[in-house]
Amino acid sequence: MEEERCPDGATFCTHAWRFIQMTAKHSSVLVVGGGMSGITAAVEAAELGREVYLVERAPSLGGRVSAMKSYFPKLCPPACGLEINYQRIRKNPRIQVFTSTRVTAISGEPGDLQVELVSEPSYVKESCTDPITPFQQLPAELSDDFNYGLSKKRPAGLVHPHAFPSRPVVDPRALEDEKLRSLLQGVEQVDLEQQPQKFTLQVGAVVWATGWVPYDASRIDYLGYSEFADVVSNVEFERLAAPDGPTGGKLLRPSDGKECRRVAFIQCAGSRDVNHLPYCSAVCCLASLKQATYVREAYSDSQVWIFYIDIRANKYEAFYQHLQEDANIHFVKGKVGLVEGTSDGSLHLLAENIAAGGIESVDVDLVVLATGMVPSTRLEPVPCQQVQTDEYGFVVSDPAATGIVATGCAKRPADVATCVQDATAAALLATLR
Ligand SMILES: Cc1cc2nc3c(=O)[nH]c(=O)nc-3n(C[C@H](O)[C@H](O)[C@H](O)COP(=O)(O)OP(=O)(O)OC[C@H]3O[C@@H](n4cnc5c(N)ncnc54)[C@H](O)[C@@H]3O)c2cc1C
Ligand code: SF4
Repeated sequence: MEEERCPDGATFCTHAWRFIQMTAKHSSVLVVGGGMSGITAAVEAAELGREVYLVERAPSLGGRVSAMKSYFPKLCPPACGLEINYQRIRKNPRIQVFTSTRVTAISGEPGDLQVELVSEPSYVKESCTDPITPFQQLPAELSDDFNYGLSKKRPAGLVHPHAFPSRPVVDPRALEDEKLRSLLQGVEQVDLEQQPQKFTLQVGAVVWATGWVPYDASRIDYLGYSEFADVVSNVEFERLAAPDGPTGGKLLRPSDGKECRRVAFIQCAGSRDVNHLPYCSAVCCLASLKQATYVREAYSDSQVWIFYIDIRANKYEAFYQHLQEDANIHFVKGKVGLVEGTSDGSLHLLAENIAAGGIESVDVDLVVLATGMVPSTRLEPVPCQQVQTDEYGFVVSDPAATGIVATGCAKRPADVATCVQDATAAALLATLR
């Protein structure tokens, strides 16, 4: 295919460039959601020569991956993959990032979309260059959402140590608390008079990459999550294992700080279950396999039990096989029917063992529920009537009809590598207008 230069210097194939000239009133792209999918779509679209607006609801980018200890397949810390992308954002003047920002309405047609947005205030003065020191004297009393409530945080500061952009914010919950509000008023760098800012963007296409939220484990009443502090969800376990997490990366029981040397993972907790999530979340088997390595690496004499219906390791079957060689990791095919407390503070599990026959009975320090992924769009739909979702909330509508391309876990549960591939395709679709 022939090539020609478009006015800003980027190279397009002739066919695609003519298509753009013919159909699109606006060539810029709005990407909503700053996780791995949204970041990928934004940098790919910008590197194809488009003006890109990247909008993230939270005060920093990175999405769910930024809260993990490490991520497969390479098991490197999230900072590795994220920092490469942050560099691409820093170096690309075509990308404008709006954090603490939401889309409230989208209207128009493909190539000519009008988007209404609102940015929440940080309540910290622009002149503040030190994101830590000014807030250090404030008390840590608010539940820390980044640690899924496993620790407390100050009412102002960075949302987590590796936040990008590295800008402090006031937690809006502190404004509802008389004592915290008055303490914040005493901090010179804080400005509680700041107001939300509404604004409008005209773009050619939107990439919707708002990802997922963990299934609410408290809705699974028979596995003890609401009853025992030492029954945690898989996302909470990531924070317990993370070096920047509430225990500094030591695997300690939330109830009493004892080392977690015996850990049970319960697969499909609330998944493939008509009473909860009827679908398979695709990554939680691999997440538990990964997390089993955290336990084995932390304590050489540790024991891990994985209770499963079937292990879906997908393209990482070799990783699963490798773990099966470890005699201290016990794969038990069967469902857990009972989780109860014991007199020494452990948890007692009863499960069927379909492969060996009979009932498996184990005492452990910690139970990890491998809960599934719920699309964010189930809780907060795309604010555009033409966009359709399936019965679970995943976006299914045709991007050609709406100009809105869903990607990553807004479309289906997936691992990072799959999301990155999908987001690259989404960027191409969004720029072919
Ligand atoms: C326990 C567990 C462990 C996992 N471990 C791994 C692993 O080791 N390796 C791996 O490859 N995958 C892993 N995954 C899967 C991985 O988390 C996903 O592939 C990845 O998070 C998908 O990225 P995303 O950008 O699509 O979504 P997200 O990470 O959810 O990012 C979405 C972003 O959009 C933002 N957002 C949401 N709504 C809005 C809105 N309305 N407006 C603006 N912004 C919004 C969110 O704040 C967030 O920043 C794991 C999953 C689980 C459950
Ligand atoms: S990935 Fe594994 S744990 Fe998750 S729902 Fe599917 S089978 Fe169950």
